Amino acid sequence: MKIIADMHTHSVASGHAYSTVNELARAARQKGLEAFALTDHGPALPGGPHLYHFGAMRFIPAWIDGVRVFRGVEANIISVDGSIDMPDRYLAKLDFVMAGLHESCGFDDQGIDRNTEAVLRAMENPRIKAISHAGNPEFPVHLEELVRGARETVTALEINNSSFSISRKGSRPHCERLAELLVLSDAPVIVGSDAHIAQGVGEFDEAVALLEMTGIPAGQVVNSSFERLLGFLGFEKSQW
Ligand SMILES: [Zn+2]
Ligand SMILES: [Zn+2]
Repeated sequence: MKIIADMHTHSVASGHAYSTVNELARAARQKGLEAFALTDHGPALPGGPHLYHFGAMRFIPAWIDGVRVFRGVEANIISVDGSIDMPDRYLAKLDFVMAGLHESCGFDDQGIDRNTEAVLRAMENPRIKAISHAGNPEFPVHLEELVRGARETVTALEINNSSFSISRKGSRPHCERLAELLVLSDAPVIVGSDAHIAQGVGEFDEAVALLEMTGIPAGQVVNSSFERLLGFLGFEKSQW
């Protein structure tokens, strides 16, 4: 299993991350990646960027040092109705919208049923292409329902490499269960490092080991080929 694009990275604009876009791009190239997504936190996260940060992503070139850069966001799901902290006109201009549950953004853990409902409703938003770190024990969810929703809405569920080491302690058993459910369905899977500094870009070893151990085929992982990824993101070949 080769992951060709890191679809979860944060720049200094996230407020608690330490590298610039150019540093992330250089790290991606050094790791041999073909692409990466800049997915700074949405504006509801304390210390997160202003909405204008995302509007101004139009200044970021599509290619830096031979690496394709996707202008993205890790938006915050802020209500049980699945709404997120960014208006649609901003989402429309981004290459990649991922959404997830984070504390202190207006929707802290509301119990497994309401957490699940919030994520399922978010997945119905056609702009949202992926859900970040669904195995987070701080926000328990019904993983079976999430996988079913992901398949129906063609929304990728992330296997987040940081969940195994740096972040969200206690995620591993949830991620293992998620992977087992994913292999039984054909719901799309996406892999991200969740790097908050350039050195973390392209770090996927734990996530890839889990995918391989579980037997998830490369064809189910949207960022295991450039062509598959661009197709998943809805790009025409002329926009590559
Ligand atoms: Zn962060
Ligand atoms: Zn996150």
